[in-house]
Amino acid sequence: MAEPIRVVPIVCPFGLGGVVYVYYLDTPEPALVDTGVAASPAGVIEPALQAAGFRLEDVRWILATHGHWDHIGGAHAARTLAAPGAAVALHGADAELLAQRRAHLNGYAGVRFRYLDAPELLAQTEALLLEGISGELAADRVLADGDRIPLGRGITLAVVHTPGHSAGSVSYLLEGPNWAFTGDAVQIHGSGTNRFPLFVDPAAYRASLRRLLAEVRPAELYLGHRLLDPTGETLLESHLAGEAVPAALRGSLDVEERLAAAAAQIAVPAQQPLTAQSFAPAAEALGYRADDPLSWPPSFFATLSGYLAPSESGPPAR
Ligand SMILES: [Zn+2]
Ligand SMILES: [Zn+2]
Repeated sequence: MAEPIRVVPIVCPFGLGGVVYVYYLDTPEPALVDTGVAASPAGVIEPALQAAGFRLEDVRWILATHGHWDHIGGAHAARTLAAPGAAVALHGADAELLAQRRAHLNGYAGVRFRYLDAPELLAQTEALLLEGISGELAADRVLADGDRIPLGRGITLAVVHTPGHSAGSVSYLLEGPNWAFTGDAVQIHGSGTNRFPLFVDPAAYRASLRRLLAEVRPAELYLGHRLLDPTGETLLESHLAGEAVPAALRGSLDVEERLAAAAAQIAVPAQQPLTAQSFAPAAEALGYRADDPLSWPPSFFATLSGYLAPSESGPPAR
């Protein structure tokens, strides 16, 4: 059983007030879990590592928890600054997000603009995405569930596919201590900026949380953001241990159940397309102002629409 290793958390700002947590793993083949956005590797990660006595140019593995821009925006830049031959790893189901800036707006980041008439907000989001992603690339290592990444001296990360937040979300599990680097696979009540969970496939999200809770049973969680507790009021730490781990997983399931109940209030019209107003009953059930869709949380439409589309994982059985 491998000894616990030193983990250096690095706080990377992105967008308008967002913060993403990148983790450096001090192992014989050093690894970086996520990269922040385009400016993060040179502007934030390199100086933070230097201050901690490490070097970005020694990093051998750039491990993406998933393809969202706040996590892979810096992947191209980080690979340029890392050791020669350093590999960017990502689950195959999120490959398009690494390969194409447009895929972000066509996917999770653009759903709300199908319902909101907000051209300035759309232009602002588009500009942030273009600027925040350092390059379009293919992963050097395409990951699948069950893969193992050797970091030297018997230290191994196991890849656990935890889809739902995105199709290619994974958790990296440090074998031995059983620490999980979950990126955004666990949402509870969303990040401090979003203040609402983001998952595009509710059935897959539930299944991933249950698998983490019952089967993987991590001893510690290293999260991609500080998350709000299930009440949506209190901001938790990005690193959770002990009883806080199952509490975060159960809390995520509880919040998901509330969202499912709210989504059941939405009447899907047989012919005409859904509008922002179609979502008003769900917004009201969750305590938002029914008549003001622009005030609903940024991920509201992306997450709620997941309940209205047929899931690849089958019918929305609970
Ligand atoms: Zn994400
Ligand atoms: Zn994120």
